[in-house]
Amino acid sequence: MQPSLEKLHKYFNLEAKRRYDNHAVVGGLDKILQAWESDARADNLPEEMIRAVISTLDKYPSQQPEERVQTLKDLWQFIQTGRKGGVRPFQPAPNKSEANSSVPPPAVTRKQFPEPHQTRKTREILRHESLPVPPSRSFKKIIGTGDTGNLGLNAPLTVIQGIGPQIAKTLETLGLHNLRDLLYYFPRRYNDYSSLKPINRLVYGEVVTVIGTIQNVSTRQLPDRHLSLTEAILGDGTGSLRLTWFNQPWIANQLRPGMPISVSGKINQYLGRLMISNPAWDPIAQEQINTNRIVPVYRLTAGISQQRLGNIIKQFVSYGALQVDDYLPSTTRQAANLMGLSQALVQAHSPDSAEQLKAACERLAFDEIFMLQLGVLQQKLDWQSAVAKTYTMPEEWYQNQLSRLPYQLTGAQLKTMDEIRTDLASGHPMNRLIQGDVGSGKTVVAALAMSIIACSGAQAAFMAPTSILAEQHYRTLLRLLAANPEDNSEQPLDTTQIKLLLGDTPEAEKETIREGLADGTIKIVVGTHALIEDPISFSHLQLVVVDEQHRFGVEQRAALRLKGENPHLLVMTATPIPRSLALTVYGDLDLSVMDEMPAGRQIIETHILYPSERERAYSLIKSEVNQGHQAFIIYPLIEQGENEEVPAAVEEHARMQKEIFPHLQIGLLHGRLKPEEKDEVMKRFRDNQNAVLVSTSVVEVGVDVPNATVMLVEGANRFGLAQLHQFRGRVGRGDAKSYCLLIPENEGAAENERLYAMAETNDGFVLAQKDLEQRGPGDFLGTRQSGFAELEMATLSDIRLIEKARVQAQAIFNLDPYLVQPEHEQLAIKLKELWRKGKGDVS
Ligand code: ADP
Ligand code: MG
Repeated sequence: MQPSLEKLHKYFNLEAKRRYDNHAVVGGLDKILQAWESDARADNLPEEMIRAVISTLDKYPSQQPEERVQTLKDLWQFIQTGRKGGVRPFQPAPNKSEANSSVPPPAVTRKQFPEPHQTRKTREILRHESLPVPPSRSFKKIIGTGDTGNLGLNAPLTVIQGIGPQIAKTLETLGLHNLRDLLYYFPRRYNDYSSLKPINRLVYGEVVTVIGTIQNVSTRQLPDRHLSLTEAILGDGTGSLRLTWFNQPWIANQLRPGMPISVSGKINQYLGRLMISNPAWDPIAQEQINTNRIVPVYRLTAGISQQRLGNIIKQFVSYGALQVDDYLPSTTRQAANLMGLSQALVQAHSPDSAEQLKAACERLAFDEIFMLQLGVLQQKLDWQSAVAKTYTMPEEWYQNQLSRLPYQLTGAQLKTMDEIRTDLASGHPMNRLIQGDVGSGKTVVAALAMSIIACSGAQAAFMAPTSILAEQHYRTLLRLLAANPEDNSEQPLDTTQIKLLLGDTPEAEKETIREGLADGTIKIVVGTHALIEDPISFSHLQLVVVDEQHRFGVEQRAALRLKGENPHLLVMTATPIPRSLALTVYGDLDLSVMDEMPAGRQIIETHILYPSERERAYSLIKSEVNQGHQAFIIYPLIEQGENEEVPAAVEEHARMQKEIFPHLQIGLLHGRLKPEEKDEVMKRFRDNQNAVLVSTSVVEVGVDVPNATVMLVEGANRFGLAQLHQFRGRVGRGDAKSYCLLIPENEGAAENERLYAMAETNDGFVLAQKDLEQRGPGDFLGTRQSGFAELEMATLSDIRLIEKARVQAQAIFNLDPYLVQPEHEQLAIKLKELWRKGKGDVS
């Protein structure tokens, strides 16, 4: 293979390994083109091959990873067949046209949709041409027959002229069912083609719009008969610019010499001269949709092109947006300095400028957070106005309990307990979230809360996501709260009053538990989903505790609550999120933050190792195991895919067993095991039957194996800091010194930088904040949002916006919590639309 092709091949492979993230080359794959072109010439590669590579790779950075797979595959196939002189076609992957480049003209044309909204620039350009500006028409007319009945924006898409049942069906797969959906179908991103330049001032690499006149145009078949190259020369009086389109021969029929057009794209170089390959273009005589502005790029599906969808939306939005009432009170809009809703919708789909676009996004994102916040505030009020039984125990009793514990509670634990005791005595259902870093000691707080209920004669249920965790909690509760009936120690409960219910609890025992819960002799039950799946009923369930709450769905938490009558609720999470975010997402819950670790907690020594230093990690594990300790080794994947070089659990487990630790029994844990199998593996590790456990991220949840002292994470760059912190929290739970070793995939990759934060701090909140800034909220939210429509525009990492929206929501809420005043009528309607009411539970 020629060196230039060899080079390409290497880059393509690297891209594949990196899952097409366009980082194989620093700055992006298109950065190689200039140098590559001369190499390719030196290698005497056929001209069309060079052009194909340049024009294809030029688009590469702007594509989505899914599209890139096909792009590289096609391109390589083309190169292959070209080398052998074969005739296999090079077909650009379908449906990835960004503008009007690779699709025939759309069926919906501007003639059907008169266009009153022209961008400022277009109008300037048009000023000198005496083209008639089409008269604006009413909304009724634009939607053809005007027959939306009384549906308004709820009318189906087919009321739009040019949308037949076929396209409507295609659009449904994008979730577009009615006119409103179309208004709120926001672009995935934008191509900024708003910079307009004369040809003599173009600079290589910039993205611009050029307006000029076609001087000549031609299409040639390339030697491979399936390939065509359309070339045009554009002149603007200051110079001329070559334009090329690959495999889009119809463009030659649309362009004529003398025709004024505008073209947009990235300025490239070919044979030392500037050119644009595959530019988007518009005739000057029509409104510029694909060029000379910030062009929206929508998510597509098979059967609809970017241009077609863009056209439909653009034409509709300029009318449809005017049909939308701005539900935000003008006081709020002014206070938060927001753009009007109609204008924001228009600008989001067809921005006049970057500033306008920014203001539009701000407005739309504000609304999402604002509505989310109003909804949770209402839910909180619902809770607070419900009535619950009060539970108080004398102070002396409480102090007695504290003194019986094997350790002193931390300040944060005591504070949280005070809050819980106040809630339980308030006469309203407690609805509290304990947010506490891994190891901050949430379980004992839950245990004390349960003992208050149990010692008052009522019942408490404690639900955990896995049976190993439930079992762990069960043993903790027995230790902290219960004495053996034969003992005459002073524990508040005895062992018969606390029970464990799991899916695989023997039926006879389940039956006994059912009876004990129904007649009230059992005071505390700990379990997994079995607590909601089993037909148990309680005589008097008054406290529900949910551990690792993000692991449960809204419905599951609600199902457990429904087994009692307005019970108090305590949910716990080890996922630390910044306060303003917590107040928004968990705004209906009262928040107790446990930000203090029990005294004497040792710092876990954290190191970032390079792949070449892996042996050091293995020797540490060996030496720890020799001292009787245990180690976790985490991998990002279960099994290796094809072409993958990412280390994966299954393969590495086999390798470790055979080559590295042949004398040890190594456990293997991953998400494809059945829940019982997972539990079995975890139990064996907990009981030290396996000194080393190879696992994927499933090991994350709060399992306590105090004997484990090493946490080794492979492919550490693939995990968020908050998650790495959770992994690290699996060790250092006993007395022995513990280690966390992080091995990223590539030595010296810039992204490894962020891993050093792990070595710098042990504070989960700090790491979570960093994570949020770097990676966005990701799975912070779990199923939390399921009562609310998706956030489209807002990113939960924008703390400034969240804070702003929260303040405004609180202000309205203070005035009119249920939005019954006439000026809030529209707002109430919109809120109802967004919150699937009735279904939403609070936790
Ligand atoms: P998490 O908040 O992650 O659920 P746990 O409740 O599992 O943490 O507690 C972690 C460990 O800390 C347990 O072994 C527990 O016994 C211990 N622990 C909890 N509170 C204290 C304390 N105040 N002082 C000392 N050790 C504590
Ligand atoms: Mg826990």
